[in-house]
Amino acid sequence: NTAPCGDAPLVPYVQTVHDRAQIEMARGCTRGCRFCMAGMIYRPVREKSISCLQSLAGKVLAATGYEELSPVSLSAGDYAGINDFIRLLITRYRDDRVAISLPSVRVATLTQDMIQEIKRVRKTGFTIAPEAGSPRLRRVINKGIDEQEILETAARVFDAGWKLLKLYFMIGLPTETSHDIHAIIDLCRTIADRHRGKQLNVSISTFVPKPHTPFQWEAQEHPDTIHEKQRLLKRRLHHGMVQVKYHDRFVSLLEGVFSRGDRRLGSVLQEAHRRGAGFEAWSEYFNYSLWCDAFAACGIDFMSYLRERDPDKLLPWSHIRCGVTLDFLKCEREKALREEPTPDCRQGVCNECGVCTQLGLTPEIAATHQQPYLVQQVHHTSENHSVWIRLHYSKTGTARFLSHLELSRALARAMRRAGLPLQYSQGFHPLPRIVLYNAVPVGIECLGEVCDVELRQPVAPHAVSAALHAQLPPGIAIEAVSELTKERQPPPENAHRYRICPAPGCEPSWMDRTTLEQRVADFYRMPTFPITFVRNGITYTADLKKIVLHLTCRDPYTLEFDIACTGSKTPKVAVIASRIMKRDEHELRIVKLPVPPSDTSSLRSTA
Ligand code: SF4
Repeated sequence: NTAPCGDAPLVPYVQTVHDRAQIEMARGCTRGCRFCMAGMIYRPVREKSISCLQSLAGKVLAATGYEELSPVSLSAGDYAGINDFIRLLITRYRDDRVAISLPSVRVATLTQDMIQEIKRVRKTGFTIAPEAGSPRLRRVINKGIDEQEILETAARVFDAGWKLLKLYFMIGLPTETSHDIHAIIDLCRTIADRHRGKQLNVSISTFVPKPHTPFQWEAQEHPDTIHEKQRLLKRRLHHGMVQVKYHDRFVSLLEGVFSRGDRRLGSVLQEAHRRGAGFEAWSEYFNYSLWCDAFAACGIDFMSYLRERDPDKLLPWSHIRCGVTLDFLKCEREKALREEPTPDCRQGVCNECGVCTQLGLTPEIAATHQQPYLVQQVHHTSENHSVWIRLHYSKTGTARFLSHLELSRALARAMRRAGLPLQYSQGFHPLPRIVLYNAVPVGIECLGEVCDVELRQPVAPHAVSAALHAQLPPGIAIEAVSELTKERQPPPENAHRYRICPAPGCEPSWMDRTTLEQRVADFYRMPTFPITFVRNGITYTADLKKIVLHLTCRDPYTLEFDIACTGSKTPKVAVIASRIMKRDEHELRIVKLPVPPSDTSSLRSTA
């Protein structure tokens, strides 16, 4: 409970892979899967208490405004109070529509509430990781899950409404035979046959022996043998609703080399980088022959790193201690060969792995409660007090690089941080009812843009303004807030007005009054102003005389104009400005201006 845990992480503007709040429920996993390094080196299990997690969840959501919360740990489904905690989160954050991204909860413990919650957040599918196809091999790796449990889980998942089930397997495990490979095929086919019309994605990875595990001495299978097994699985499984994916065998080969490598590999890394290696996990960048050349240049036979190791000899990582004793790892290896299980020590029986005595720790399991936890309940009422408010906002400085989607997400999260009682849409994936009327192009600043927001209950405009002011990111500011007392109408559709001036840091001497007036005069003197431009890879031509209205020189460094129409076949405003000014786009600062409601001359001009 006292371990430091960030409760105010950075909130990125761009959508990242894990774009949600995360709280760490526990460290360590003692299930004892014999291939898993994390399960060995992070022992023992130390779970935070539910009240500690409850407080952490409140802090992280208040600080970030995230709309999704994910409790995480190595084996989140094993957290002792998982059901209590998830139920508590669902109840507490229902009105704020915080989606709870649930970890791999054991299906037998799923309640209807939890199933609904998982479906609300997980859009992709449900995952089961049997790791091996046959019960025998699952005993070898100490993956305590039997076939009946897998089949029942699959049935329950599909009955609950999922249409996609993902199954994870490893090939090349110690003692594996062709029978074990065929067992993967049989298991997948049984599930596919029982649930026709449902999608099954089978992911096959290659076993890579890892240091500090009972399998650290095992040989890694040759890439050619792995390839044969991959092809067999693909041939026998890949049809209709079953998709098979597997890892590149040469990437797994390199993982194996570096996982159990020694200090000589440092020079290989340097050599490969010198030859252009980088982003190797992206298949389009991975170049196996480059690595072969790098190993050859360093005089290293890399295939030798895949060999079986002698348990009585020192290993390159023998000087690193994680607490688990060598005797325990050897004992586990022998039990693997005898297909004997080792129970999870969280259930009370110590398996004497050595961690607790060496590091002076003990497993810490969260207490579960019979009584429901006290949560702050919001009193529901059938009366509708919702109101719409209208915000006028600006986006300036570096905030101009936010896309429309990023801006709308940043505004919504700021509103959540500010504690505004946002109203949400109905349906399975409720969204805050926020309407941004104009999509201002990336790189363009704007003033006086309009955004309407529906609140569950009235909040005084000055209070909205003050609360938001404290939460908005730099460059985004609220200029005015008003309550829409009549029926909500979109703001009047005027032309788009832009101000052009020299970009900060650019030498503005080219933009003196004489030059600007010359540009304006040139524009009006020409009967047409044809330009060619490219949008989405297609070249178009356009006459700026039909698009640009009211080109005016405002002061020595400022030009203003209106654009009558926008669309995918009209040039971007930055292109228009650069052609009129005869300067590069990066030399110009472009600001979109509000057009006063009374000024409809632009529309009249285009009519
Ligand atoms: S020493 Fe015992 S209780 Fe502690 S992690 Fe190892 S097996 Fe579990």
